Amino acid sequence: MKKLLSCFLSFCLLMPFSACKQKESEHSATQIMMDTVVTISVYAESSDILTGAFELCKHYEQLFSRTIDTSDISRINNSNEKAVNVDPETLHLLKTALEINEKSNGAFDFTITPLVELWNVNKATDPPTDDQISTLLPFVNSRFVELKDNSVTVTNGCKIDLGGIAKGYIADKIKEYLTKNGVTRGTINLGGNVMLIGDNNGAQYNVGIQKPFAKAGETALTIKLSNKTAVTSGIYERYFEHDGNIYHHIIDPKTGYPVENNIASVTIIAESSIIADGLSTACLVLGVDEGKHLAELYGAQTIFIMKDGTIIVSDGLSVDQNGELPCVKMK
Ligand code: AMP
Ligand code: MG
Repeated sequence: MKKLLSCFLSFCLLMPFSACKQKESEHSATQIMMDTVVTISVYAESSDILTGAFELCKHYEQLFSRTIDTSDISRINNSNEKAVNVDPETLHLLKTALEINEKSNGAFDFTITPLVELWNVNKATDPPTDDQISTLLPFVNSRFVELKDNSVTVTNGCKIDLGGIAKGYIADKIKEYLTKNGVTRGTINLGGNVMLIGDNNGAQYNVGIQKPFAKAGETALTIKLSNKTAVTSGIYERYFEHDGNIYHHIIDPKTGYPVENNIASVTIIAESSIIADGLSTACLVLGVDEGKHLAELYGAQTIFIMKDGTIIVSDGLSVDQNGELPCVKMK
């Protein structure tokens, strides 16, 4: 069986590292963090570096989580319209989120929180009513968020949820930490946000993309990739079914309903995982044409898997259909 570095939520196999510097060997660890499975693998002299990487992850979870009372995001959400001093990194993340909000014409909107809470797709069994949805829509607008040098003010009852972008930022920061500490080869998988450091001993990694709605670990396609990030947003990741309809976790800020189009998942390939993460969510909302256009603004590549299984890739990618599975490569 082919070994794949997988974008799946709960599954990660590494291509074997081989023929490396003498004292170095592969070290890998998995922890549940940020409500997801985090696996970090490096080629290094000792596994100590992984401890620091997971501590970093925990540090960012404490800053950005909407459900941790003391986080910067909770303090902003509970601020009653008063300015809140936040960590410079929270400001940076919010600035990037605002930029993607603008460039996506509001498709990516990190003030979608009241509707995320209303739909509560992890627990709900019934959809909310139209009235409940239309009551909350006026609170959704990233323009209600004002950023200053070291503080954030939110108005009009708006609340922030960085679930669509924070993991990407954390993946970037873990990569930075590992490379600063001498790691030249490794992989970071934050529940489907895959970041690659270097290549796989002269070859490319095979990143497996989950087949939508199939058993976890079943692959729709593979991507040959090195030293880049691949981030997937899929409507199969979190959802409930009611009366034969699927209600998933990515909400269209214009309607307040889970996005309804013919896309099952979007994978973004880029240098920066914060960008790829924001774009993957935005592209799922925008659809193929507008999504591709948005990704182009950032020099990123897109892979759309449609509900009927069709694969649509951007101009910088090619698809080899000759193997067991479609294999996507950078041109
Ligand atoms: P991702 O898996 O990166 O696409 O992020 C999905 C998460 O982002 C959801 O679970 C929500 O927390 C949040 N979210 C949902 N809809 C949107 C949206 N339109 N814009 C920004 N964030 C969203
Ligand atoms: Mg995202």
